[in-house]
Amino acid sequence: MRTLICGAGIAGLTLAWWLRRRGGEVVLVEKSPAPRPDGYMMDFFGSGYDVAERMGLLGALREVSADIGGLDFLDPAGRRGGGLAYTAFRRMLHGRVLSLMRGDLERVLRAACDAEIRYGTSVAGFTDRPDGVEVATTDGAARRFDLLVGADGIHSTIRAQLFGPEERFLRPLGFHTGSYLFEDRALADRLGRRFAMVAAPGRQAGLYPAGGGRLAASLIHADTGPLPADPRGRVLEAYAGMGELVDEVLPYCPVDPYYDHVAQVRLPGWHRGRVVLLGDACGAVSLMAGQGSSMAMGGAYVLAEELASGEGSGGAVGAAARYERRMAPFVADKQAIGRSTARWMVPARKWEIAVRNKVMGLSDLPGGPLLLGASMRSLARSVVSPST
Ligand SMILES: Cc1cc2nc3c(=O)[nH]c(=O)nc-3n(C[C@H](O)[C@H](O)[C@H](O)COP(=O)(O)OP(=O)(O)OC[C@H]3O[C@@H](n4cnc5c(N)ncnc54)[C@H](O)[C@@H]3O)c2cc1C
Repeated sequence: MRTLICGAGIAGLTLAWWLRRRGGEVVLVEKSPAPRPDGYMMDFFGSGYDVAERMGLLGALREVSADIGGLDFLDPAGRRGGGLAYTAFRRMLHGRVLSLMRGDLERVLRAACDAEIRYGTSVAGFTDRPDGVEVATTDGAARRFDLLVGADGIHSTIRAQLFGPEERFLRPLGFHTGSYLFEDRALADRLGRRFAMVAAPGRQAGLYPAGGGRLAASLIHADTGPLPADPRGRVLEAYAGMGELVDEVLPYCPVDPYYDHVAQVRLPGWHRGRVVLLGDACGAVSLMAGQGSSMAMGGAYVLAEELASGEGSGGAVGAAARYERRMAPFVADKQAIGRSTARWMVPARKWEIAVRNKVMGLSDLPGGPLLLGASMRSLARSVVSPST
């Protein structure tokens, strides 16, 4: 089977790996001129962890994972208002969790994947025919494939060509988020193995030790406006006055940090003919639900599995329909969790910040893991069945 995947991010690379493993011919086109190392630090568990295990990548991921001891909730004055011990968090997930930089996950996936990746290239247009999909790429090439996959993220152009402009399907949750990676050995030493979360009403700045003197800044603030033309300027303005620690971190913000709406994607369908959407393009769950990368890997695994069992039962078109039927309920479930946790992830009022900090701190108390463990395990529910 010949597949063109638009987008060499987490979903695209994972799908390419599985298709290549089953002998498929795969071309990836990626609009960035080169791999991008930026992005956030994530807790990687659930479907993504299970899929990575099946790909034999847990060892490589463990090597690049950050050794985080715990989380401290701080106010702008630097006072600790609660926290979470990572040992308790890991125990709740039976140790099946890693703290990973998005860029490191992408790097490990890319190294494992032997598909052709054309950087600085995108899909210029496509025509779906009964015997294949004709795809023209921006480098001037045109070829027929059995399947075209839109794994091109939350602002997917393949989705726009299939279903229309993104305003119809993108549901912003009322926040903007930014992230960047920088090096400051003295600050990294001061932070040690803990990550600091400084919260003020409607704003939150997370600072994670990423290893080797690197630190990852992960920012979220309430904002219902359009994306700014100058993201760095917006970051400096939005997070001003959040105390000394944040003041130390802001000057490191590059001119082009990762900066986007915190949003979900809801579509009437995930495929049309031989064109199918994957990952954030069809089912972004948002930062509020966590697990965007994990769901992207889960979706890629399920699509590859359905394509492998698809011969004689509707081919690629039938496989796309079965993939959507299996994945969509999982995505809807995580999206509902994301919408309901948004208020507690970035509280709008001081008293809500205090309540959130106390509840998270329960895991440090005897019996706390028992109390919070059930909800963590429901969050970690995986699309990969234990028997497969
Ligand atoms: C560099 C980067 C940093 C990120 N940082 C954060 C973060 O800090 N916080 C957060 O919540 N989420 C972040 N994300 C999004 C997060 O990675 C996704 O939610 C999650 O991994 C789902 O994976 P995905 O593969 O569906 O989408 P993504 O990981 O977003 O991958 C999509 C890929 O498609 C490429 N692409 C987009 N449009 C086109 C096009 N027209 N043609 C070809 N290629 C295209 C993109 O460059 C990207 O490589 C980031 C994404 C990227 C690309």
